[in-house]
Amino acid sequence: MNCGEGGCRKNRREILLHSCCAVCTIFPEKRLEEDGWEITGFFYNPNIHPFTEFERRLFAVRDYYRNIATPLVIDAHYDVLEYLKTVTVNERRCERCYRLRLFDSAKRARSLGITVFSTTLLFSVHQDHDAIREIGAEAAREHGVDFYYEDFRKGWEEGTRASRDRGIYRQKYCGCIASEEERFKKRIERLQNHLMPSEETGEKRARAIGILTSRAERRSS
Ligand code: SF4
Repeated sequence: MNCGEGGCRKNRREILLHSCCAVCTIFPEKRLEEDGWEITGFFYNPNIHPFTEFERRLFAVRDYYRNIATPLVIDAHYDVLEYLKTVTVNERRCERCYRLRLFDSAKRARSLGITVFSTTLLFSVHQDHDAIREIGAEAAREHGVDFYYEDFRKGWEEGTRASRDRGIYRQKYCGCIASEEERFKKRIERLQNHLMPSEETGEKRARAIGILTSRAERRSS
C-alpha cells in the first residue's frame, strides 16, 4: 500500500526510514520530523563497493543519526560476489538493487512492529524515482506494511547544501562497482587512448608496451 503526505492513518506515526547515505537522509528526515513521524533509521546497502567506501558511508549515516539523537538499525551485510552475481551483471541492475533494499526494509519494518516504511532513495535526482515508488509499494504489499511516498527531490538543493555546510561525507558515485566505472568513463577513455591507441596509431601502442616491458624488467632485475 502507498501512503504519503496526509494519506496514512493517524495512529500510524512510527516510520522506518531506509537510509542509503547521510547526504540523502537530511531532507527526508527533516520533512518526516516536521510531519510528526517518529523515525527509526535503517541502513542496509550491500550495493556499496568497495568495502572502504561501504564503511565510510555507513559511519557517516551512523554519525548523522547519533547527532540527531534518533535510533538507527544497521544491517552491515556485505558480500561483493553475491551482489555482482545477483544484481550488477544484469541490464536492469538498478531495479534489482532497489528491490533488494526495499524488500528488506519492508521486512525489517514488519519484524520491528513498525507499520510504515520509506526510503531516502526518493530524494535523489539521479535515481529512477518511479521505479523506487513502484517497488516500494510492491514491497509493502508483500510484507503487510505501508510505504510512505513523498517526492523528496523537491529538497535536493537544500539537502545537498546542508550536507556541505555540515561537512558530511559526500560520495562521488552511486554505490556499485558499475556506477564507479560510469563515474570514470571519460578518464578511462583518456587513459586507454593514451596507452592503448587503435591499430592506426601503432607507434603510441608500441611506446606503451615499451613502458610496461621496461617496468617488468626493472622488477625482475
Ligand atoms: S547504480 Fe546505484 S542503484 Fe544502480 S545498481 Fe548500482 S548502486 Fe544500485
